This record gives sequence, C-alpha cells and structure tokens, in this order.
Amino acid sequence: MNIVVCLKQVPDTTEVKIDPKTGTLIREGVPSIINPDDKNALEEALVIKENTGAKVIVLSMGPPQAQTALREAMAMGADEAILISDRAFAGADTLATSNALAGALRKLDYDVVFAGRQAIDGDTAQVGPEIAEHLGIPQITYVEKVDVTGDKELTVRKAWEDGYEVVKVNTPVLLTAIKELNEPRYMDVKNIFGLFDKEITVWSADDIDVDKSLLGLKGSPTKVKRSATKETKGQGEIVNKPVKEAVSYAVSKLQEKHYI
Ligand SMILES: Cc1cc2nc3c(=O)[nH]c(=O)nc-3n(C[C@H](O)[C@H](O)[C@H](O)COP(=O)(O)OP(=O)(O)OC[C@H]3O[C@@H](n4cnc5c(N)ncnc54)[C@H](O)[C@@H]3O)c2cc1C
Repeated sequence: MNIVVCLKQVPDTTEVKIDPKTGTLIREGVPSIINPDDKNALEEALVIKENTGAKVIVLSMGPPQAQTALREAMAMGADEAILISDRAFAGADTLATSNALAGALRKLDYDVVFAGRQAIDGDTAQVGPEIAEHLGIPQITYVEKVDVTGDKELTVRKAWEDGYEVVKVNTPVLLTAIKELNEPRYMDVKNIFGLFDKEITVWSADDIDVDKSLLGLKGSPTKVKRSATKETKGQGEIVNKPVKEAVSYAVSKLQEKHYI
C-alpha cells in the first residue's frame, strides 16, 4: 500500500502578528511548523506503515524552505519526500494549490491520500476535498479512526458534530485528518542523524501532470478585495458591587444597548 500525506509548512500562528497598516501577516522571524492536522495525518500513515508495511510519501507545495518540514516528517518516519516548488505556483489560492498537488499525485502510485482537515494559516479546509475532486476519487473528511480491513479496503470513522459515522471504503481514497485521530510522535533520534544527507525530490511545474493555466495566480479565481484588522476594544468597565447588584447593573446596561 502506498500512502501520500499532503503536508503544509505554516507559520506558528501563536507567534504571528498582523501589520495594522497593510493587514497582512508579519512572517519575518516567525518560526515555521508542520501544520498540526497534517502531523495527525502523517502519524496515522506511519501507524498503517508499521502494521502493514505500507510506504509513506510526504508531499508539499511551497518555497524551498518547506524542505525543513519535509525533513522533520522523514525524521518521524516517512520514507520519501517530494516538494513541488516553482514560481508558476506563486499567488495560488486553494483551487490552484489543489490543482498543483493533484498534478503531482497523478505522477505517483497511491492507494491512500491523507490531508489535514485544515491549515492553521489559511483555515479554509478546502484543499483536501478539492484534490479528491480533481482526481475523481472518494473522500472522507473529519476522520478520527482508520482501520485497514482488506487488501483494498479501509474502515473509517468520520466525526460529526453530534456523533460519528463508520464508513467502509475501497482505495484509492482521500482522507482528511483531525486532531482526535491520534497523538503524533516525536522525531526519532536515529532518523535525525543523517537526515540532511537524505534526498528530497523537487518537482517544478513541468514535472507534474496538470494544465498550467490552472496554476498560480492565473489559476486562482479568489480575489482578496480588502483585509482589515479588528480594532482593539476599550478597557471595559469594572463594576465593584456585590454580585446581585453587579448582575442587575450588567443586565440594565445590556438592555440600554438593546443587546437583550
Ligand atoms: C488570492 C490568494 C493568493 C494567495 N497567494 C499565495 C501565495 O502567493 N503564496 C502562498 O504561500 N499562499 C498564498 N495564498 C494562500 C494559499 O492559497 C493557501 O495557503 C493554500 O491554498 C492552502 O489553503 P488553506 O491554508 O486554507 O489550506 P486548507 O484547505 O485549510 O488545508 C487543508 C489541507 O490541505 C493540505 N494542504 C494545503 N496547502 C498545502 C500545501 N501548500 N502543500 C501541501 N499540502 C497542503 C494540507 O494537508 C492541509 O492540512 C493565497 C491565497 C489567496 C486567496
């Protein structure tokens, strides 16, 4: 079984600040990490590898620095890493990103494609489902448990807001992982040694199987008209009264402003 994990390098959003003038993220000096849901996806792929001997390939679209995330994935236990990187991908929205990743997947032999549910910087949760659509394969989102129950069959538990659904699916299939799926492992010390000798395959737009008009800015129908940062609120009012009086006071204030 071949498993491909789509893995995005993201800025650690606990460290990110917004430039109030431009409304864009200040990325300088911000550490990058593997997108958390993608780590859960990778962990599950590695568990399946341990149980079945599957091969695990990590795939990322991004600038050359994204190799750091791919190396970390290999230190966790991934067998191969592919970075697709090209100026032709610049300005990609989610549709162009998913087209590029699907183009790379068409060059690979895969049974299971894992993605995270969503990336913490973009937060759209669109890329995984879009890849499945481009490839014409079934998808199960919000996956919280995976069992390999046959040569070409998985039994998957999908989370709903108020319960779960158990689905049997034949491969090839795309699954999107949520944090409830597992607890990602740390990098393996013995894999860390020699990690920088390991080769990462880098593909350009010419190496993948996709119509080039679907890539980058020209393949991106999303247009950002305006972005804004929330203005900071005032300090509020501290009410130093006994609890009952304070509650009545708060209620009267809310009524005054027609909130209740
Ligand atoms: C108009 C526009 C222009 C943009 N221009 C740029 C740009 O120039 N450069 C730039 O870096 N971003 C750019 N972005 C942001 C970029 O489109 C998104 O970061 C990207 O499409 C992923 O969307 P998301 O973060 O919402 O991922 P989600 O859909 O939330 O991610 C779901 C899952 O998909 C997979 N995935 C997502 N992205 C990748 C990836 N790159 N590689 C591997 N797996 C992935 C991961 O498994 C992830 O967990 C732009 C966005 C817009 C709207």
